[in-house]
Amino acid sequence: MFLNGMPKRMLIGGNWVKAASSKTFESINPATGETLAAIAEGDSEDIDRAVVAARRAFNGPWSRFRPADRQQLLLRIADLVEYHFDELAMLDTLDMGAPITRTRMGKSRVVGMLRYYAGLATALHGETIENSLPMDIFSYTLKEPVGVVGAIIPWNGPVGASVWKIGPVLASGCTMILKPAEEASLTPLRLGELLLEAGMPEGVVNIVTGFGDTAGAALAAHRDVDKIAVTGSTETGRKIVEASVGNLKRLSLELGGKSANIIFADADLDVAVPGAAMAVFANSGQICSAGSRLFVERSIYQEFVERVAAFSNQLRVGDGTDVETQIGPIVSAQQLDRVTGYLEIGKREGVRTVSGGSRLTSQEFGKGYFVPPTVFADVRDDMRVAKEEIFGPVLAAFPFDTIEEVIERANATAFGLGSGVWTRDVGKAHRVAKEMRTGSVWVNCYQAMDPAVPFGGVKQSGYGRESGRQHLDEYLSVKSVWIQTG
Ligand code: ADP
Repeated sequence: MFLNGMPKRMLIGGNWVKAASSKTFESINPATGETLAAIAEGDSEDIDRAVVAARRAFNGPWSRFRPADRQQLLLRIADLVEYHFDELAMLDTLDMGAPITRTRMGKSRVVGMLRYYAGLATALHGETIENSLPMDIFSYTLKEPVGVVGAIIPWNGPVGASVWKIGPVLASGCTMILKPAEEASLTPLRLGELLLEAGMPEGVVNIVTGFGDTAGAALAAHRDVDKIAVTGSTETGRKIVEASVGNLKRLSLELGGKSANIIFADADLDVAVPGAAMAVFANSGQICSAGSRLFVERSIYQEFVERVAAFSNQLRVGDGTDVETQIGPIVSAQQLDRVTGYLEIGKREGVRTVSGGSRLTSQEFGKGYFVPPTVFADVRDDMRVAKEEIFGPVLAAFPFDTIEEVIERANATAFGLGSGVWTRDVGKAHRVAKEMRTGSVWVNCYQAMDPAVPFGGVKQSGYGRESGRQHLDEYLSVKSVWIQTG
């Protein structure tokens, strides 16, 4: 039993250790407010220890692992994750609140990711390049692992977020320090046990639990870390960029969003209504690419917004461990304050609340952090609830008249992660897809993800791509070799 009442330790150099300070913090179940476990509270000293272990592993036996050895390791990890997936899904649900049906559904994607990266491990190659020099010099490139990677992950899907970093690290031959979010460290720690069981050499993946402004900041600033890969808020991304300048680390940043979902009157509305609702309400809106701005063509605006509200009202809110639950709690008391703060801001700004609108406090919800799906209509583009990322189950709806207008308004945001368009007109679909300044565009669907298809942002949603072949390049350096043959 992983949750056995014992404090959880960190994984450094293949050993489960306490924090150097011996401090711990508590992980709370957001559905009940109860403590799940005490977790080692790592800080800069623990980050130092983990970086030493990761550097030693990088220079040591791990560097002699051949691509096929790394592939085998990834495949063994995939098998173990597949075998233990129900447990991992339940840990995610307990720790961050997502409905168990949702966390279980992640199985094929998470296991598929590990197998996809296993495949890429033996598909790395440089190039031979014809040069135009007058003498006989042959040139080619090698792709080499960038080195020690600091991976900083969020709490909104801990098992998936961990694997999204572990996969490319192991495939490329890097080593890593994984810093889970303080709200949800349990699944990454259980994954650490499975990595050891799969035969991962010591120090290749280290897991330091702790807070963002201590452990996270120390990792971002560490002079012997070669790269940071972070998924988090835009504000955190900015701090990490600043912290990274000391040794000019490589960075990949998957940050916030305020994604537009555009509904044309010619769309299949029976599909678009639940599609638009779940684009923002899935995971209680705690997805960076959530379709939180809904633009609806004026001729169907009133009807569409009412239908989305009606659909949302029948979604079952509750404890994520209940298989009937469709919308779980908000992850933490702090995040709850943030979301309810935006509900108040929206009302002050004069939006029309069509459904939801305030925290649920009755008997069954009182101890947890529950906010029902909330639809704000008649939102103006200059309102804070239209511009700022809320990261909660809150939809802002706007009418529009023309395709030119909606493209301009949808793009008038600091973010650029995802966007959606719903129409039966294939020309319109391609036109919007081409014009959106976002890393992904979904047409007549939303939030589709696959290990082989890149995901990431533009503008203040960050840079770098995860999934797809591009992902591995984020963890590789190119070396050019010149050989005089004359
Ligand atoms: P969210 O707003 O979604 O909670 P955060 O950006 O706060 O996301 O957190 C994402 C991850 O970044 C977490 O692991 C958190 O501990 C970490 N983090 C937060 N602040 C910093 C920081 N200043 N430096 C490095 N990591 C940080």
